[in-house]
Amino acid sequence: MRPEILNPLFAEPDSLDGVGPKLRKPLEKLRLTRLRDIAYHLPQRFVMRRAVVALDDAAEGEQIVIALTPVEHRAGASARAPYRVLAQDGAGDICALTWFGKASYTARKQLPVGEKRWVAGRLDRYGDMRQMVHPDHIAAESSALAGNLCEPVYPLAEGLTQPRMAGIVAQVLGRLPDLAEWIEPSMLAKQGWPAWRDALIRAHRAEDKAARDRLAYDEIFANALALMLVRQANRRRRGQPLQGDGSLRNRLQLPYSLTAAQARSIAEIAGDMAQDAPMLRLLQGDVGAGKTVVALESMLIAVEAGAQAALLAPTEILARQHFDTIRKLAAPTGVEVALLTGRDKGRARESILMGLMDGSIDIVIGTHAIFQDAVQYRNLGLVVIDEQHRFGVGQRLLLTQKGRVTPHTLAMTATPIPRTLVLAQHGEMDVSRLDEMPPGRQPIDTRVISAARMEDVVAGLARHLATGQQAYWVCPMVRDNETDDIAAAEARFAALQHRFGDAVVLVHGQLPPERKDAAMERFSSGAAKLLVATTVIEVGVDVPNATLMVIEQAERFGLAQLHQLRGRVGRGSEKSTCLLLRGDELSETGRARLALMRESQDGFYLAEQDLELRGGGELLGTRQSGEEAFSIATLEQVTRLIDAANDDARLLMEHDGGLASERGQAARVLLYLLERDWGVSLLRGG
Ligand code: ADP
Ligand code: MG
Repeated sequence: MRPEILNPLFAEPDSLDGVGPKLRKPLEKLRLTRLRDIAYHLPQRFVMRRAVVALDDAAEGEQIVIALTPVEHRAGASARAPYRVLAQDGAGDICALTWFGKASYTARKQLPVGEKRWVAGRLDRYGDMRQMVHPDHIAAESSALAGNLCEPVYPLAEGLTQPRMAGIVAQVLGRLPDLAEWIEPSMLAKQGWPAWRDALIRAHRAEDKAARDRLAYDEIFANALALMLVRQANRRRRGQPLQGDGSLRNRLQLPYSLTAAQARSIAEIAGDMAQDAPMLRLLQGDVGAGKTVVALESMLIAVEAGAQAALLAPTEILARQHFDTIRKLAAPTGVEVALLTGRDKGRARESILMGLMDGSIDIVIGTHAIFQDAVQYRNLGLVVIDEQHRFGVGQRLLLTQKGRVTPHTLAMTATPIPRTLVLAQHGEMDVSRLDEMPPGRQPIDTRVISAARMEDVVAGLARHLATGQQAYWVCPMVRDNETDDIAAAEARFAALQHRFGDAVVLVHGQLPPERKDAAMERFSSGAAKLLVATTVIEVGVDVPNATLMVIEQAERFGLAQLHQLRGRVGRGSEKSTCLLLRGDELSETGRARLALMRESQDGFYLAEQDLELRGGGELLGTRQSGEEAFSIATLEQVTRLIDAANDDARLLMEHDGGLASERGQAARVLLYLLERDWGVSLLRGG
């Protein structure tokens, strides 16, 4: 149960003055659905203004506050033309205040001729006239602006303006409760950090390192603490030692021999599974490193020991593909493998549920449907989670509650993040690394091409398809908006279908599952030659005959994501090509990213470079990967503060594992505030 003191912070924005249905949408777009979200909607930056007496004192391009007296209103010749108000300073110098479109209504009302007004905005030039386009503020009193020389700039959505947003934030800040301190007092003193409430207020008011650091630390600390609670609960729970006798694994007839890294990882997993304590291990391996077979061998260990295993995939497509691969590989062992997704209904579903309950099914592969309440296992011994960055820790937790005893957990990820960040994102997991690729991989010929050469690209694609090989076409990412992404994908699909006819299939996130599967099926069977897709193909899909990948607007994708996408080709014996199409407007980092893609194919190297490119400003746990581990702390802050936060959390757990002391109670409030309360539910007596 959420502590009562937080309830006001979880109220909806409607409860604020002047926030009605009109603002609902823009606020939702920014994911500001509760007051706490607004409190944590921190400014991107601040505009610093200087109060000047005369226009002559200000430089062009400078943000200023100045007293001006309107002398003349000049409506444009047409409705489209700008509306100008000429205004003069004390020395008689003139500045044009300019509006485009409807905004001029403001000007008419707020700038009566002959009456002095305080105006804030950016001083520019238009021809040989000074001008200020769309001044940010106009006030009759100097006091309204003088206190406002440092002004926050918030991320906005359509329908919101900076002053509006600032007003909403101010209301929320006015309602912040005083919360008891959860940070260790000596830490607080040493760092010179303000209390929580002050920190929030200060972080909205100006560039303030101490305040921002404190808020970031709260998040990192909460995360560390929640993960430790999970770990503690996990330790207390009974696991079951599973020792395989090799009888099933010996019957596998793999078409290759395992790499040393695969063999080592399997040995590490087997070692963990033989223990009483439930395994909590992360398998890190670049795309194509061969994680699937490691999963299979681990699952066979469980089955050899008389238990069942479940493999959880993030999407239907992937679940299906894993099912096909694993069923084929496992055929000689005679184990029973089933597929269960949200789509299975009626008889088929009933029979799988029966099989899981009576133990006739040994291995089940599926989406999160395999962990719904209705699904009971006879003896679930191992849970494998593929591409685990798509799942939150809280979700993972649900899974491990499923068995009579806590099952062993193996999480697999292709995100090659360094150890500290593994800790921050996944908690104290043990890590196995596939740091070696299966032999015989050919480098992928990666080229960056201007999108203006679309015709050449399509002609090249035609030649490629004529050889009988297949190709992927990844559609542009239209700025965080799935609907636009899909529109773009459909348009591209139509164009390519026009050219290549039936050989083209389309897959995107909003297609009904049957159509998605049908398309994937046609592509992986080779009936379709070209797969047009949004990034749903990002993880897992394995079609060795697909040897060309075209990525549109490649500069919009993150480095890690480009690397993942490219990993879909280069899986067979033929040489593969990746064409990165770029737009005209290329930022510095966009350019650097594409250059790196051309240079390297090493996921760990690319990940390191990515961190460097993104610098400290960027959030960790990018939106692309689906899970935002941190939404307040930046990467730089996580790296700098994580050790202290871990120590602090560990110390608190040692002294007060039940979070019952005064500080423990405060920490509980924090966990709820930052929505890491999944940890709290594990405490005995909640
Ligand atoms: P990922 O780690 O991306 O999940 P997969 O498990 O899909 O990688 O494996 C990628 C490809 O490499 C598959 O086609 C698989 O059959 C092949 N593969 C896996 N292990 C080996 C190996 N030891 N030698 C040769 N090929 C391998
Ligand atoms: Mg995989």
